[in-house]
Amino acid sequence: MARSYVREARRRGLGRRRERIGPIIERLAVEHADATIALRFRSPLELLVSVMLSAQTTDTNVNRVTGPLFQKYRKPEDYLAVPQEELERGIYATGFFRQKAKAIRGTMRVLLEEFDGEVPGRLEDLLRLPGVARKTANVVAAELGHAQGIVVDTHVRRLSQRLGLTRQEDPVKIERDLQRIVPRADWARFPHLLIWHGRRICDARRPLCEECVIEPLCPSSRLVAPRASDDRDGRA
Ligand code: SF4
Repeated sequence: MARSYVREARRRGLGRRRERIGPIIERLAVEHADATIALRFRSPLELLVSVMLSAQTTDTNVNRVTGPLFQKYRKPEDYLAVPQEELERGIYATGFFRQKAKAIRGTMRVLLEEFDGEVPGRLEDLLRLPGVARKTANVVAAELGHAQGIVVDTHVRRLSQRLGLTRQEDPVKIERDLQRIVPRADWARFPHLLIWHGRRICDARRPLCEECVIEPLCPSSRLVAPRASDDRDGRA
């Protein structure tokens, strides 16, 4: 079990989660005004395929593959018109290419059979697509403008724990905790802010606390920890 920074936040007098979440979002939004999805896509279908391909690999790697891929596969039928091995060759560089090709083809079948070839916007419909788990469904729904949950990836999980926003380890439980405190209007951008902050500043092994704009709000800061009686408001 990860150390609980929820209690640590109280001990350091940083305030409750609900009180800190607004300033955390505001500061990160200024710091990472360019935070957005790094995958490149031009349609809901390309978005869905990109997110499915992004499992266990980097967004840069996916973008390298999808450039030529999306020239060839433009609609759901195109993915089913070739043998699976041909699609596997096209996505080989993203890893786990057999499972991914199978899931993509299965998804295309369901899209054609049940959704007129369109990518649905509702989370429950997205979750019916083969190989589409909650994280993928949340990313797609949010990018389509219908955020119905909060994406929890490795960065969101680590930062939510470090910021004392959750005590949980399980992504579904972390998402539930975040949904209770993050304003609904911020459900789509909040994960992007944490992901970019995680990549640029709050690295898993070497967080750059001295450069961090939310350090005064963070119970796991590596800078000298003040006592609860210290006035942190002056720094916030
Ligand atoms: S203060 Fe340090 S641990 Fe806290 S969010 Fe910033 S970089 Fe991460």
